[in-house]
Amino acid sequence: MATTQDFIRTGAEYVESLRGRNLTVYLFGEQVDEPVDHPIIRPSINAVAATYDLAQTHPELATVISPFTGEPVSRFLAVCTSAQDLVLQNKMQRKLGQLTGTCFQRCVGMDAFNALYSVTFDVDQAFGTAYHDRLRDFLHQMHRGNLVVGGAMTDTKGDRSLAPHQQEDPDLYVRVIRRSAEGIWISGAKAHQTGCLNSHWMIVMPTMRMSAEDRDYAIVGAVPVDAPGITYVYGRQSCDTRSAEDGTIDVGNARFSGQEAVVIFDDVFIPNRYVFMDGETDFAGTLVERFTTYHRRSYVCKTGVGDVLIGAAAQVAEYNGTDRASHIKDKLVEMTHLNETIYGTGIASSFQGRPTSSGAWICDDMLANVCKHHVTKLPHELGRLAQDLAGGLVGTMPSQRDLDHPQVGPLLHKYLKGRADVPTETRLRIIRLIENMTLGRNAVGYLTESVHGAGSPQAQRVQIARGMQLDYRKRLARLLAGIDDVADSDALADELTGYFAEVFRTHDIVATTTSSTAGGDRL
Ligand code: SF4
Ligand code: FE
Repeated sequence: MATTQDFIRTGAEYVESLRGRNLTVYLFGEQVDEPVDHPIIRPSINAVAATYDLAQTHPELATVISPFTGEPVSRFLAVCTSAQDLVLQNKMQRKLGQLTGTCFQRCVGMDAFNALYSVTFDVDQAFGTAYHDRLRDFLHQMHRGNLVVGGAMTDTKGDRSLAPHQQEDPDLYVRVIRRSAEGIWISGAKAHQTGCLNSHWMIVMPTMRMSAEDRDYAIVGAVPVDAPGITYVYGRQSCDTRSAEDGTIDVGNARFSGQEAVVIFDDVFIPNRYVFMDGETDFAGTLVERFTTYHRRSYVCKTGVGDVLIGAAAQVAEYNGTDRASHIKDKLVEMTHLNETIYGTGIASSFQGRPTSSGAWICDDMLANVCKHHVTKLPHELGRLAQDLAGGLVGTMPSQRDLDHPQVGPLLHKYLKGRADVPTETRLRIIRLIENMTLGRNAVGYLTESVHGAGSPQAQRVQIARGMQLDYRKRLARLLAGIDDVADSDALADELTGYFAEVFRTHDIVATTTSSTAGGDRL
C-alpha cells in the first residue's frame, strides 16, 4: 500500500510507486485497470514526476532539509518558516510551469499543510485539542517517504443559497456520518480534485465558513488515496483522446497534462491520528482564508506556463517569417508585460510574508488575491495574442494522419510551409503546442483553472474589498484636500493596521530576503 513504501527520490521511482494500488477509477464509463499505463492519464503523472526530477537537478530550489528526518525532502512537503521559504515556493512553481507547460498538481497539498500548521495550532490554543501534534506526526510520516499529498477542498455544494446542513441531500458537502473512540467515517464528494489519483495521500478540508449547525461538515482529515470506499471519476479535458492516438504532433504537448477528478467518499474511515479538525466550526472559515492566501499566490505557476506560450508565439512568428514586424514584437512585449504582472504580485505577496503564532509564515492576503485575480484574466489575453501570432492554422490544421498519408501528405508538407529553411512539421508542431495550451488539453490548466481554481473571480473581489481600508485612504485624501487638520496627520501612523501595516512594516525584510539566492536566477 502507498503508505509503507520506501523514500521516493526520482520521477521514475515516483511513477513506480503508483502502480498496483487498486484504485477505483472511472473514465469513459469504464473502470481503469492501471492508471499509470492509461494513455490519457499518464501525461498528468509525468507532470508530477517532473517535480521529483527537478528536486534531483535543482535541490536548492525544489527540496528543503526536513526538520523531522534531517534529510532533504520535497519543498512541496515543507512548512514555510521565513519569507524566503515562501518566495522559493513561487520560484519553484514558475520553473515547473516552464518545464511542463501545465499544472503539476502538488501545490494544493503544500498550501494545505502550511495553512493547517497555523490553524491546528490556534484550534489547540482555543480548545485544548491535540490536532497540531497529530499534523506534525503526519508531516513526519510524509517526509519519511517523500510522498505526494493532495488537498481535497471543493465540495459539490448543491443549492448554493443553502448552508451544508440545510441541503435536501445531506451528502452534498463532505461530512462525518458517524464517530467511534477510534475515529470517524466520512461520506460526500469533492469536485475538481487536482492530481488526486497521482497523490499518495489526500487531506480532506471544508470548503467555506460554517455555523454551529454545520458541525459535522467542519472536518479535516488525511486519507490514503486507496482507502476503501473512495471512487474517482476522471474529468474530461478538451481534445483528451488525442493522447490515445498514434503520433505526437496533434496532441501538442505529448508528455504533460494536468488532472482533475470527482472524488466520491462512501463511508470512508479516518483514524483519530489523521483527524486534524472535527466540529470546530469557528475555524473552518479561518482555514479556508489561510489556505486561499497561500494558494492564490501559488498561481504564479501560470507565469511559468506563460513563459512557454510566449516562447511558442515568438517561435511561430520566426517560422512564419513575421518576427521582424514591429507589431509582432509589440505583441510579444505585451505578453511579457502581462505575464510579469502576475509574477510581480505573487512574488510580492511572498516577500511580504509574516510569521503566525505557530511559527509558520504566511504570505500577504491582499497581494495573493490580486495575483489570483490577474490570473483570472491575463492568461486569456496571452492566449489570444498567441493565437493571433500563430495564424489561422491553430484552428484548421489537418491531422497528423493526413500529414503522414502517402498521397495527400507531401502536398500538405508543400503547401503548409512557412519559411523555406524551416521544415513544415517543425512549424506545425509549434502551432499544435499553442492549440494545446489555448484550446486543447492544457487550456484546462492555463485558462479554465486560472478562472476557477483557488476560488472563482468574485471570491477574490470579496477578499480585496475586505482589505481595502477605505477609512484610512479617505483620511489621506481629506488631509491633502485641507478638510482634516494637517496637525492630526501624525495620528495616521496609529491607523496603520491590516494591509497597510504590512506595506509599511520595515523589520525583517532584509534579514529574510537578502539570503534568498538559493533559488538561483529569477527564472
Ligand atoms: Fe499548482 Fe498551479 Fe496546479 Fe494549482 S494550478 S496545483 S498552483 S500548478
Ligand atoms: Fe488549482
